Amino acid sequence: MPSIEYKIEIPNPQTHYAHVQIHIQQCDVKSLHFQMPVWTPGSYLVREFARNVQTAKASINGLEAPVLKTDKNTWKLDNTKGKDILFEYDIYAFEFSVRTSFIDADHAFLHNSSIFMMVSEYASSSGSIELHYSAEWKNLSTSLEKNKQGNLVFDNYDMLVDSPIEIGNHEVFSFDVMGVPHTAAMVGLNNCDMEKFKNDLRNMCNTMAQIIGEHPCKRYVFIIQNVESGGGGLEHLNSCCVVNQRWSWNNAEQYRNFLGLCAHEYFHLWNVKRLRPMELGPFDYNRENYTDMLWFSEGFTNYYDELALLRAGFVDRNAFVETLKTYINTLENRPGSSVQKLAESSRDAWIKEYRPNENSKNTTISYYSKGMVTAALLDAEICNKTNCKKNLDDVMRYLYQEYFKNKNRGFTTEEFVEALQTITGADFNEFIRKHVYSVEEPEYERIFSAAGIETKKTIIKEYSSGIQTALENGKTVVKYVNSRGPAWHGGINVNDILISANGAAINNDVDVVLKNIGNPGLVTFVLIRGGISREITMTMVPMEKIDFTLKLSSGGDNSREHILEKWLGKPKLEKENHGK
Ligand SMILES: [Zn+2]
Repeated sequence: MPSIEYKIEIPNPQTHYAHVQIHIQQCDVKSLHFQMPVWTPGSYLVREFARNVQTAKASINGLEAPVLKTDKNTWKLDNTKGKDILFEYDIYAFEFSVRTSFIDADHAFLHNSSIFMMVSEYASSSGSIELHYSAEWKNLSTSLEKNKQGNLVFDNYDMLVDSPIEIGNHEVFSFDVMGVPHTAAMVGLNNCDMEKFKNDLRNMCNTMAQIIGEHPCKRYVFIIQNVESGGGGLEHLNSCCVVNQRWSWNNAEQYRNFLGLCAHEYFHLWNVKRLRPMELGPFDYNRENYTDMLWFSEGFTNYYDELALLRAGFVDRNAFVETLKTYINTLENRPGSSVQKLAESSRDAWIKEYRPNENSKNTTISYYSKGMVTAALLDAEICNKTNCKKNLDDVMRYLYQEYFKNKNRGFTTEEFVEALQTITGADFNEFIRKHVYSVEEPEYERIFSAAGIETKKTIIKEYSSGIQTALENGKTVVKYVNSRGPAWHGGINVNDILISANGAAINNDVDVVLKNIGNPGLVTFVLIRGGISREITMTMVPMEKIDFTLKLSSGGDNSREHILEKWLGKPKLEKENHGK
C-alpha cells in the first residue's frame, strides 16, 4: 500500500488560504476518491468542511487529469492504477473555534479534518505532512512526531485528523505526568501567571490520571488559544485544544472553570478516545455517527471534571455539593427533563444539542448535565451498594482494561451494565432503565442521603410568567417561554415585544412588573407582534418551582464519613496500577 504524502503551503496567511497537495506514488487501485470530512469527531454536527475547498485538480504521471465531483464532499479520479498521482486544492480557513481551522497573519491553527482530505482507498495508509510557512513563525505544536526530513508523520488517516497543529510564535511550557512528557502551547496575548498555571494544570492532569491509573500516551499536547471572547474545548487522541478569554486569567472563578475545562478535555484521552461506546470509532467521516451513549462519554467526563476540582483541592466539599445542587435544580426545572430521555438526547445530538432553537429548553435536556448528575447518582449508589468497597473509578478502570486494552473495541450499554455487575455484584439494569431510557425523576433523596449528602425536595409556588426577555434597542423582546408557565398557555410568543401588563410599562423584567401590580390573577398584556399591536389577557396561576437542597451530613456519623471519603475522596490506587 503506498504511503500518502501531504504537502501544505501557507504563503499568504493574511488571506486565510492554504494550498494542499496529496501525492501518491505507484497507486495500486483503478480509481481514487478524495473526500473532505463532513464532521469532526467529538463535535456532533455536520459542518460540511468541503464548502471551504476550491480549485481542486489532479494530474496523473505529470499530465493534467479530469476530476469528477460525485457528491458534496467527494472528488473522483479514474485510471490511476500503477501511476503517480497528484491531487491538489486551495482551502479557506477563517472560522475560529476548536473544531474548525483558522489562518491569519499571526498564526495557523490546523484542525485537520477541515484541512486534509481523506484518500478513501488508503484511509489506513501511513504517510507524512510537509509544511511550508512563514520563516517568522518559530514554533510548531502538535502530537504528531517528525521524521528525519522534518515532516510530520501519521500511522493512518484517523491519527492525522485527530492531531491538530498550531504554528506561530506561541509560548510553550512543559511538565511530566506519570512519566509522560506534556507540553502546552499558549497562543495569543494573555494575562496568565504561567508558573502558577503550569503547577495547577499539572496537578489537575495528575488528578485525572489517577482515575484510570495508567497513562497511554507517549507525549501529550495542550493547545491553548487565548481570545477576546468565547470558549470551548475539543479532545484528541494525544492532545486537546482549549479556548480561554485572554484577560480572564486573574479572575478566580473563570480560572477555576478553565482548569475544569482542561481537566475535561484531558480526561477524554481515556474516556471516549480509548474507552468508548461501540459506535464512536472507527469513524465514518461522510455522515453522522449515531450513539445512545454520549451521556457516558460527555456526561461522565463532565462529572469527573467537577470532581477533579475537589480532588485536586481547588474547591472544598461544600462547594462541590453546591455545584451538584445547581446541576440538579437546573435540570429538574427545565421542562425538557420530562420530555427527552438521556439516550435520545445523545442520538439526536446532531439535530438538537448542536442545533438549539427557542423551544429547546422545553423539549430537550443536555447529555452533559443530566449525564453529570447520573454519574454522581451512580457513583453514590455504587458506594452504597458495595458498603464503600467500590466507586465509579473502579468501573472506569475495569472498562478501560476490558474493552480498550483486552478487546480493543468499544462497548455497548448492556456491556456497561455487565461491568457494573462485575465490579459491584449488584444489578444496575433498573438504574440504567430509569436514568437513561426514561424521564422519571431520579431518587436523589434516597441515593444521596444514604451516601452522606442530606437531600430534600420541596416545591415552591411562585408568581412567575415563565417568560425570559432581552432588552434590544430599548424594547423588551421575548426570548423564551417556559412550557410549564402561564404565559405559554396564555399565548405569549418568542419575538413578541412586550409593552405593558395591566397598564404598567414593562422594562425588560416581566416578573418584577407582575409583582408591582400585585399578581392580580387576570393580566392583560399589550404587545407588538409582527409590527401589529395586540392585547392578550391570561390567568396568572402560580408556577411550581422544584427546589432540591443538598447538605453534607454532619455530626459524628463515622459510616457516612467513610462513604463520603470513598465517594468524594482521592482515589487510593494499588501500586501496580501506576504503569505507563
Ligand atoms: Zn467533552
